[in-house]
Amino acid sequence: MRVITAVSTPLRRITPSAVRQSSRRCFSSTQELEASWGFIGLGRMGYSMAKNLRAKIPAEDTLFIHDVNAAATQKFLEESPKGVRIAKNVREVAENAEVIITALPEPQHVKGVYKAMLEPATLLTDSAVKKARLFIDTSTIDPMTSAGVAQVAHSTGQGKFIDAPMSGGVVGAAAGTLTFMIGAAPEAVDGATKVLSMMGRKVLHLGEQGAGLKGKLANNYLLALNNVATAEAMSMGIKWGLDPKALAGMINISTGKCWPSEVNNPVPGVVEGSPASRGYEGGFGVALANKDLKLALKAAAEADVKLALGEAARQLYEAAESAPDCKGKDFSVVYRYLGGQE
Ligand code: NAD
Repeated sequence: MRVITAVSTPLRRITPSAVRQSSRRCFSSTQELEASWGFIGLGRMGYSMAKNLRAKIPAEDTLFIHDVNAAATQKFLEESPKGVRIAKNVREVAENAEVIITALPEPQHVKGVYKAMLEPATLLTDSAVKKARLFIDTSTIDPMTSAGVAQVAHSTGQGKFIDAPMSGGVVGAAAGTLTFMIGAAPEAVDGATKVLSMMGRKVLHLGEQGAGLKGKLANNYLLALNNVATAEAMSMGIKWGLDPKALAGMINISTGKCWPSEVNNPVPGVVEGSPASRGYEGGFGVALANKDLKLALKAAAEADVKLALGEAARQLYEAAESAPDCKGKDFSVVYRYLGGQE
């Protein structure tokens, strides 16, 4: 695995042309025009990411933005009026931008958005920008859907498509400290890293297209299970009469130690400032944890991977996600759902 930390390339050189290692900007006009970027999906993650991107690309470049929620693009334009244009649809983004980043909720949104961008397959002949695009999808989706989109982009020669799911949450998106796990052909890695480093701190290249998503889903599968196991272990210890902090302290210097036990302990009061200690507010939403778990289970089934624990965990998250006292909370709320003492 290649770990690439944020690059220190001078800003002026971070242009779509530069990321494709081209010698000059080459638009339909023979004149040298400034470069264009695209961002689709200005939600909880995408809005801040696009803000960071706009702040770091050269002032004279243009950022085309689009979201089905017009209020989001309008707000963005009001906050960042310089060098931002609202595209009326995603095809307009694809026609005008050389580098296009997407941050969308679910596989069907990614599929639909890329279909609309890539069909008809005339981006290189009939639009303002005649160069192959760099498409970077940062959404967490299943590797199969991602591979399907990549296939269309690559087979029509309209651009390179890479998967770059992220971790770091809304706090990391706002601070520009996200970690991206990317799946990309070797020749696309440097360019993608330069772009992503404007929105994050680390870019991990895990392999060919699809590898970023596979890595992310494997990690989040483990996280989902560790979270449940920690909730159960803490619950049993506390019911047996152990002091919660003493129990967590012991686990955290023993073999049971994991991120949920040490950093995001599900028992209120064990870790100061954790979501559990503030009513399970903030953090990694139980619905998002469930979404990633289901994507991992789907991808595992497609690859014929035998799993013993995944389905039981899925049922638990499914139930917690809709329970009135757990809904919308940090995923450590499974401790509450399981009846743990608070
Ligand atoms: P979100 O739902 O807040 O934002 C998604 C945005 O996409 C919304 O503004 C929505 O209006 C827009 N959208 C939906 N369909 C569209 C379409 N067809 N065309 C244009 N725009 C469209 O989601 P989010 O929390 O920003 O997450 C984005 C992705 O990142 C998801 O795949 C999520 O799993 C992943 N992710 C989220 C977090 C997190 O903490 N929120 C962390 C890591 C990864």
